[in-house]
Amino acid sequence: MNNFFKSKEVFDKSCKLMPGGVNSPVRAYRSVGLVPPVVKKGKGSRIFDLDGNEYIDYVCSWGPMILGHAHPQVIGAIKAAAENGTSFGAPTENELLLAELISDAIPSMEMLRLVSSGTEAAMSAIRAARGYTGRDLVVKFEGCYHGHSDGLLVKAGSGALTAGVPDSAGIPADYSKNTIVAEYNNIEGLEQLFKNAGNNIAAVIIEPVAANMGLVLPETDFLKELRSLTGRYGSLLIFDEVITGFRMAYGGAQELFGIKPDLTVLGKIIGGGMPVGAYGGRREIMEKVAPLGPVYQAGTLSGNPVAVAAGISTLSIIKNTEDFYRRLDQLGQSLQEAYEQAASSCGIDITINRLGSLMSVFFTGQRVADYDTALKSDLNRFKKYFSLMLEEGIYIAPSQFEALFISYSHTEADMEKTRAAIKKVFSRLQ
Ligand SMILES: *Cc1c(COP(=O)(O)O)cnc(C)c1O
Repeated sequence: MNNFFKSKEVFDKSCKLMPGGVNSPVRAYRSVGLVPPVVKKGKGSRIFDLDGNEYIDYVCSWGPMILGHAHPQVIGAIKAAAENGTSFGAPTENELLLAELISDAIPSMEMLRLVSSGTEAAMSAIRAARGYTGRDLVVKFEGCYHGHSDGLLVKAGSGALTAGVPDSAGIPADYSKNTIVAEYNNIEGLEQLFKNAGNNIAAVIIEPVAANMGLVLPETDFLKELRSLTGRYGSLLIFDEVITGFRMAYGGAQELFGIKPDLTVLGKIIGGGMPVGAYGGRREIMEKVAPLGPVYQAGTLSGNPVAVAAGISTLSIIKNTEDFYRRLDQLGQSLQEAYEQAASSCGIDITINRLGSLMSVFFTGQRVADYDTALKSDLNRFKKYFSLMLEEGIYIAPSQFEALFISYSHTEADMEKTRAAIKKVFSRLQ
């Protein structure tokens, strides 16, 4: 059993000063009823807490750390950038370099803007879509998360799901009335919706692979039909690739599925662990953004030199590593098999959704294809599984409704240790 004396001491103090002791709710471990390890440092696939406990990290900062922690090249780039000054609020050459890397990887982003978070990117993409189309309504899907801006915090998946609060207080009904919620993977429902209101719909925003209700994959042709439906009504299709961008493939989910959205939202990986987001897409839409057009959007720290340096370094490493996505997929495959074997030998019902290095293990025998089916999971069993895994030194997200993230720095030895932990933990779940 790990001890948590120092973590508990620090966390107790934090709870007096910060809501839940944290700066983002899921970190508080409320749904699993534990004190979260307070992290001291990370290196590669491992993180270490204040009490000296070591964990294999499958949260990876919720996605950004695809190269693992404290990658020497990324840290070198950050240090070098910081030496030259940390913020100017003026154009720099590195902003262009990062924009070029992104636009080359994701050609649908003909023009883009850097911001400081995924929330900001999604919110700004919606504003651009409304400004361009002159329409107000936005369609989002149940269980998809697009950051915490007012209009998008409706049926928004993991954080709210875990807390058992479907929507947030503090959002005027006037805001959310312009957000229509649809069911993931239900194209008939969408067709009906468009028949009724299509000409007033500015945009449909979607996680092309949903990773915030646990991992849920789009069914065959769902994205394709969504593309053609939005096109027919002159509504924009926005892919929120904050998680999937540079994770599923170098060109994101849109490369993998061969679908070209009008706008794309990025975050997480493109900042290499620093705060960066981006939104962009068709030139004629992005030309509506100030100062070229009437859609206002700005940011004091947008395109921050240190953050941009981390992003450039991260994307360049991925781009120049030949077997990058194949290896991530193999690591994912190996974990999936370990779970399947442990579950079947222990007679425990699970459903695994996986795409490459992203996966979720749901404690249900039923297929999970949307928000309602994700909710069928046995949360008590998850809770027990989570705490046993943590004891074994395996750090996963403290929620059934989050994905497990694998980084390129995870080694075969990590996999072996994780497989052994899974086997042991599942035998104790019976
Ligand atoms: C994390 C996330 C966001 C929000 O990004 P922040 O940087 O946390 O604001 C938006 N969309 C998706 C799909 C995400 O996973």
